Parts: sequence; structure tokens; C-alpha cells
Amino acid sequence: MSSLASAGWHFDNSYARLPAALFTRTAPVPVSAPRLVAFNDPLARELGLDATVLRDTGAAIFAGNEMPPGAEPLAQAYAGHQFGHFTNLGDGRAILLGEQITPDGRRFDIQLKGSGRTPYSRNGDGRAALGPMLREYLVSEGMHALGIPTSRSLAVVASGDSVLRERPLPGAVLTRVAASHIRVGTFEYAAAVGDGPLLAALLDHAIARHDPEITEPGDKAAAFLAAVLERQAALIAKWMLMGFVHGVMNTDNMAVSGETIDYGPCAFLDIFDPATTFSSIDRNGRYAYSSQPAIAHWNLARLAESLLAVMPGGETAALERAKAVIATFPERFGRHYLTGARAKLGLSTAEPGDAALFAAVLQWMHDTRADFTATFASLPNHSAPWSAAWQARLAREPGSATDAAARMRRANPVVIPRNHHVEEALTAAEAGDLGPFERLLAALRAPYEATPDNEPYRSGPPAGCGPYRTFCGT
Ligand code: AMP
Ligand code: MG
Repeated sequence: MSSLASAGWHFDNSYARLPAALFTRTAPVPVSAPRLVAFNDPLARELGLDATVLRDTGAAIFAGNEMPPGAEPLAQAYAGHQFGHFTNLGDGRAILLGEQITPDGRRFDIQLKGSGRTPYSRNGDGRAALGPMLREYLVSEGMHALGIPTSRSLAVVASGDSVLRERPLPGAVLTRVAASHIRVGTFEYAAAVGDGPLLAALLDHAIARHDPEITEPGDKAAAFLAAVLERQAALIAKWMLMGFVHGVMNTDNMAVSGETIDYGPCAFLDIFDPATTFSSIDRNGRYAYSSQPAIAHWNLARLAESLLAVMPGGETAALERAKAVIATFPERFGRHYLTGARAKLGLSTAEPGDAALFAAVLQWMHDTRADFTATFASLPNHSAPWSAAWQARLAREPGSATDAAARMRRANPVVIPRNHHVEEALTAAEAGDLGPFERLLAALRAPYEATPDNEPYRSGPPAGCGPYRTFCGT
């Protein structure tokens, strides 16, 4: 036990001090034979944890078999609009251990995913399979290295048990680290329970964690809504500019922190097609690549509705203020998107024609079925209808061509978590070979620089690969 105490755990569990309706205290269900399969040393150090100690002794903790000192395990309650329909949910297979305070005073949720049934499990088994947990680990760490706000992955433990999906699969528990796990759906839940003080307590908690600068006694809820909206506008712009498709943007999968959360059927575009969906359950393309900004806007309107009850000044005035905030989304998203688009084109200044130039590049990529990431990483090599206009535009930039090239290198990754590489790594890992997983992870950690080591990870799928599909049986 002394090794645990010295591992650097420092919990302060503010969520556990909220009104009891927001969660249920419940412990993880132990697994048979925990074995650490992946452990994130750099993240452990950032959290103030002793990576060496935890690599040796952490399997029992990251499986949920032992509690780290100071943990107060609980499952969070939340609701959500799933494919447009309101449902009561909650952590059906996740347990929040608590909030780790880092040596520099930051606060992070430490959550186990796949840790057994909870009061919110409905018909689910509370468990997760090894492949999807390693997938979340790879993709979330890849997103982080790309500079996209995201929950992160500290560890994956193989449980020694099998989980039954279409067939029996090796089970696993993922340790997820996030600024918080407060979702749009958490507010929907608090509003649906119909209790003003509950909603007010959740709002104050979320503001303390994510928007401590909101102090005015006036309309805190509207200020919070605007802050969440701004973070989501920035986040979705980043997704769009990296070719990321979340796949299941239900309101319960949208975090008010502005981090990407709940990696399920997500995937990155290979060829550029705005209508791309990867998820086998998204039959109508609700969460297609090009629909993501509109869906985020829709989800934020659900957050606004949830907050109405705690907005001061009467129902009509509150509704008008909420509507005014929500109406700013397209403009805010557009601004973030255009800033990022300019960087991808190597531009540091703004001209009115820039958006059209970027759109022309995308249209050409769509027409020619070009690979999204590889094309941006090699823009000067393409002679295309937009090339002359782009070169002329670059010539009007201050600074040298070398500066522009450096800007483009910082905005256009050469490595992303490509579906065929991720699948290959997971197949090998399920068969007991972690080599491909570790090599891919190393490549994903430095995505902006072409090196001999990452050469195998830079190209799209081999010709003849059918359309990629992701499955929700995660
Ligand atoms: P998702 O859309 O995948 O984020 O999950 C939607 C809801 O289903 C959440 O409340 C999850 O906790 C729950 N859930 C997903 N898989 C399971 C499972 N195997 N057992 C219990 N609950 C689950
Ligand atoms: Mg979810």
C-alpha cells in the first residue's frame, strides 16, 4: 500500500459534493486478471503521478480492483438527445474515481470506462472490449498531438474476462482523463429533473471548473452558454480542418469543456467526401462530416433550453437572450474555420477571397477523390484549377516562401490515425502483439514532421479497400 500512497494521487472530488441527484456512489466491479496493456507515461507525469510506480503496481487500480487513496467512486447521471430523441442515460459502464489535482494546480477527472454495471446500465453489461479501448487510446492521443482539445487516455488494462458482443472478445478497462465529464446532457438531465436549485448547483460547478472568469451576478447562465458555444465553435472547426468525423454527436457525447469526448464510431477521412459517415448505425447521415457544424449548433440549442430555468428576468426575456447567444454560432464557427483554413494554405494575412480559394481546393479534392490529409501535406505538388490563384495569393503574403511553408507544415499533419493502420494495430493487439500499436502510437505523437519512421503511416489505404465502417458495439 505504501507504493500507492507515494504514487502521487491527490484527489479533491468537487463533483461528489454536488446534490445527490446528479450521481450514484458505486464502485467498479473487479475483474479476474488485470494486466496493464498500455500506459501513458507523459500524461502520468503531467498529472503528477509516478509513472514508474504505476507501471509496476497500477494494473489493479486501472482495472478498478483497488481504489487509489482519496478516490470516491461514482457514476454520473445524465440525459441526452440520441439521434434527435430525448433519453435518460448516465454512466452505464464508467466510474468517476475523482478529480486529480496536478502539481501546478489543474484539475482532471480520472474515470474508468468498462468497469462494470452501474445503476444506469439499462440492458448493458457495463463492460468494454480491448479493441475499442485501445482504439480510443490511439485516436484520443493522436487528436491531442494534433492540437485538438480532447479527453485523454492514461491506461488500458486487459481484464482477463471476455465480453460478449457479436462474439466473445477480450475485455478491458480504459482510464480516461478529462477536464470534466459534464455533458450538454448533464444539463438536460438537471433541467428534466425539474428542480431549479439542482440546475443552479450544476451551473455553478461547471463555471468554477471551466469559466471561473464568469463572476457577474447578472446572467451567469447566458455567459456560460456563450463560453461553451465559443469552445464548441473552435473545436468543430478543428475537426473539420483535420477531417475528423465524431460519428455520434448526441448531446450526451458533447462536453461543456470543449474537449472531444466519447470516442465510439469516430474516424478520419481518407478521400475527401463531405457526405462521409463511418458509423454503421448512422443510416441517415445525421452525423456526416459536413453536418457536424449544424449538429453542434442544434446541440447547443438543447443546452440553451436546459438553462432557461436559471436565467433571470422572466421567461420571454430569457428566451430572447438564449436565442441571441445561439444565433452567434455560425459566425463564430466560420471565423475559427477560416483562420484554420488560411493556415492550411500558408496564409498569415486575410483577404476577402480566401474562403473561396479554400472552397475551390476542397471542391477539387472532392471531384478528384483526393486524400484529404496527404493533399494538404503536399499542396505545392498539385497542378490544379486553384493552383495559379493560390500561388498569386501566396506572392502577396509578407515574409518569405520559407515562412509560408513553415506555416503550412504546422497546420497540415503528415500523420493522422488512419483507419487501416488503426485496424491493423488493433487486430495484432487482440492476437497478443502490441508492436504495431506501439509503433503507430509513436508516429501519432509527432504528426507534423515527415520522418523515415513515420513514412509507412503517411499514405491512404491501399486501392481496393472498400468504404470504411465503424461499429457501435464498443
Ligand atoms: P455512447 O453513445 O456510446 O456514448 O453510449 C450511450 C449510453 O450507453 C451511455 O449512457 C453509456 O454509458 C451506455 N453504454 C454503452 N455501452 C454500454 C455497456 N456495454 N453497458 C452499459 N452501458 C453502456
Ligand atoms: Mg457517450
